[in-house]
Amino acid sequence: MRKTKIVATLGPSSSSEDIIERLILKGVDLFRLNFSHGDYVSHLETINKVRRISAKLSKYTAILQDLGGPKIRLLEVDEPFEIHRGEKIAFKKGIKKCSREFLSINHPDILDKLLNGSKIYIADGLIRLEVIDVDRDLVYTEVLTGGRISSKKGVNFPNIRLDISSITEKDKTDVLFAIENNLDFIAMSFVKSSEDILELKKFIAENGGEIPVIAKIEKHEAIEDIDNIVKYADGIMVARGDLGVEIDLEKVPVIQKMIIGKANGLNKPVITATQMLNSMVNLPRPTRAEVSDVANAVLDGTDAVMLSDETAAGNFPEESVSVMVNTVLEAEKIYNYYKNSFTTGDYAIPYSGSELAKNIGIDKIVVFTSTGASAIRTSFFRPMADIIANVTDINVARRLSLVWGVHPNMLVLKSDDIDGLINDFVDKGLEDGILSKGEKIVIIMGYPAGVPGSTNLLKVIDI
Ligand code: PEP
Repeated sequence: MRKTKIVATLGPSSSSEDIIERLILKGVDLFRLNFSHGDYVSHLETINKVRRISAKLSKYTAILQDLGGPKIRLLEVDEPFEIHRGEKIAFKKGIKKCSREFLSINHPDILDKLLNGSKIYIADGLIRLEVIDVDRDLVYTEVLTGGRISSKKGVNFPNIRLDISSITEKDKTDVLFAIENNLDFIAMSFVKSSEDILELKKFIAENGGEIPVIAKIEKHEAIEDIDNIVKYADGIMVARGDLGVEIDLEKVPVIQKMIIGKANGLNKPVITATQMLNSMVNLPRPTRAEVSDVANAVLDGTDAVMLSDETAAGNFPEESVSVMVNTVLEAEKIYNYYKNSFTTGDYAIPYSGSELAKNIGIDKIVVFTSTGASAIRTSFFRPMADIIANVTDINVARRLSLVWGVHPNMLVLKSDDIDGLINDFVDKGLEDGILSKGEKIVIIMGYPAGVPGSTNLLKVIDI
């Protein structure tokens, strides 16, 4: 079974029940809903479709809410216009629209932080300006790379530290929607430091939610606080779209490896995102470089690879998922399994189970887990054996959909002694085709069952 998980963004190209079903069947483990677009009615319709179809297919497809966050944008422009290298153009506070004369942004206070030499990037870094003078409400710039200025283009300030909150009022309303509809993950955009994560977690908890928070690493400030962000977030996304504007593009592959390494080290799931198979938005086949990018993210140790426009707005959503699945499977043939070495405490039994499976050639580690934690700890050791996580709670099953190598399996526990629990699983496993007669499996369990934090049993059984 495939170890690396596939995240697909839903959008106009993939909103019908039919396509959602085919994407799940092709291998999508988790759908991303981009809350920068769409309204609650359409998001709810999509959520209901995903839930209905995955129940029909006996899958545990998770849903991730991606918050819009404080995206800095140009104000409206009446008529788009071109600016050229060497021209001068100024930013001004207190105006309502951009024009050929003055530009402005939706967070005008940021302009106060600019100094001579500060860089301003517009439209994903395609247009580049440099500040040449600052005079009260006016910031004068020179155009380094020209382009077309149009309404609401994104703006990045790669050299200055911003002090705007990473949670907007709209994000807060979106989070309440996520809590109300029991979404599985919330991804926070434009995280600057671990403080942002703690603030969002507090807001979720104060409103009765328990949704894990994925920190999107896309700002230069976040790289400086990466250790704390990895420590406090429940998962990480290497959001290479904005990251590639905020830092030098050529540094992105190295930063990706650094972030994945740190997330693996603290056993937090990590998603590698953006432009993975971008040419498949328009074409049925990807470039060699794109396929190589997906394979390298797998070999870097990512838990999941993500499709964005390819499935949300592209012409070949299903083909994109298939290419991703096949590329992942090829890369996993040469994966560096059994990565982490022995640790004590809660990790001792999962480590021993992984080693035992390796040493006696067993290809299934079956974990009975109430919170999912024992399965996540087993994944830490990156065993070649599949990790089957027997859970009783659908919310746990869905969240495990993001974790490398873990295959959630819902089980109704009828017994309360060890042999009875194992027999319940074996009977159902044989019926469902998860197990076959004659094979050996490793069992990891916490006994008594259902008590979090007591992974204390390791057993090898013959089916
Ligand atoms: C990114 O910037 O890479 C990203 C995933 O975020 P978004 O698609 O929301 O811009």
